[in-house]
Order: sequence, then structure tokens, then C-alpha cells
Amino acid sequence: MGRKPIIAGNWKMNLTLKEAISFVKKVKNKLPANSKVDPVIGSSALFLASLVEVCKDSELKLAAQNAYWENAGAFTGENSPAAIADLGVEYIIIGHSERREYFHETDEEINKKAKAIIKNGLMPIICCGESLETFKAKKTLEWIKRQISAGLKDLTSEQVRNLVIAYEPIWAIGTKKSATAEIADNTCGEIRRVVGKLYGKDTAKKVRIQYGGSVKPENIAEYMNKENVDGALVGGASLKPDSFLSLFEGLDKS
Ligand code: PGA
Repeated sequence: MGRKPIIAGNWKMNLTLKEAISFVKKVKNKLPANSKVDPVIGSSALFLASLVEVCKDSELKLAAQNAYWENAGAFTGENSPAAIADLGVEYIIIGHSERREYFHETDEEINKKAKAIIKNGLMPIICCGESLETFKAKKTLEWIKRQISAGLKDLTSEQVRNLVIAYEPIWAIGTKKSATAEIADNTCGEIRRVVGKLYGKDTAKKVRIQYGGSVKPENIAEYMNKENVDGALVGGASLKPDSFLSLFEGLDKS
């Protein structure tokens, strides 16, 4: 298949700089060498400059959790994707449901962010996912289709091939009610089909699609074994070094 899975911790608004540095020092040399998986930490923008230094000699890569779509200007409080790129960070998470819900981010804004991130040579991790209401009404596919086609609008097949999509059903985030591996696999498969229709089969085959929502060391293997799931975006279970490291254990066997 040839898609390298990516397991990304999403620390959200947690930890202090001291705690973040200590965390990364603890895990960076314990991650499996020559791993078949890309390990990533999504940290507060406040810590990225320091963490890049700590990560220098390891496989661990960093992600910002958001960025603005302009590189510079009068946008008080925002973070420039160019400045994030300049630090040596590789990924930027965008469109997380918490940003959509609490900060009213729209698909159009997420699309602008995706373009800006790619222009700066970084990889966006674009989140999508439905509410419990939408899930219960069996309208997940319709919802996801809209999020994906609007979020990826006007990108080239080449660009879409190299980005990461995270399928995160809102009802599974931080609730300990993870989606079953079958649901995750089916929906990631549907997302792949949507990408295929818009950007061609080859792009659909190559784009990496993670599952996120109450993933932990005890259940991650179920997702990793599914054909359409190329890794995980992990919140709560990425906040302790041992738990984060355990997400990578045993993966070489699958
Ligand atoms: P969770 O969060 O693993 O705590 O459910 C996942 C996410 O929001 O990315």
C-alpha cells in the first residue's frame, strides 16, 4: 500500500514549557528506531521553538495546532504559517472540531489555512468529523463530503496527496466512547472515495487518513490494523510520556 501511518499527539491547551521539554526529552530516544510510523507531537505554539531544538536528533516531528492564512500583517494574536515553517516544524493541525465549535472556524477559513500552510512547505493535518446528532441521523457521509470538498477546494492532486486528513467524530473526542474500528475504517474509506472522485484514484491511494477520538494504548492496534486508517490523532492519551510511547508499542507486528 505504501502509506506511512502517522501517530500524532494533540496536546491541546495543556502543559507548560518545562513540562513539554521534559516530556519530549523522555520520549524522543525511546520511539522505535526506523519506525514504520511517523511520530508527531502537536504542541502549543508557545513551545515549538524550544521543542524543535530538543527534537533535532530524533524521529519525533512537531505540529502546531493552528495558524493564520496570512504570512504577516496586522492580525493581533495570530500565528504566521511562515514563522512556524521557519522554526523547522513540519505539520499544522487545522479545522479541529474544538476550533470549529468554540472559535467558529468555517470550511472556507480552513481551506485558506490549508493553502497557506502548503505554500509555506508544511503539511496540514485537516480534521473533519460529525456530531452525534449527524451520526445518529446517518448523515455522516453527507457532512464529511462537504467538509472535505470545501476544505480541500482548489488544491492540486499533488498537494492533496501529501497532506493528512484526520477523521474525528465529535462524539468520540474526549468522551472515552471511541468509534469502533469498523466505523473508523468505513468512514476513512468513504473519505478516501470522496478524495478519489475529486482528485483521482492515485491521490486517494496516497493520502493519509488518521482516525481520532478516544484512541489510547489499549485500542490503537484495532485502528492501525484497518486498511483505510493510516494512524491516529490522540488527545488525552498523548499527555503522559509513558502513555504516548505505548501508542507505538507492538506496531511493528501488524
Ligand atoms: P481524545 O482527543 O483522544 O482525547 O479523544 C482527540 C482529539 O481531539 O484530537
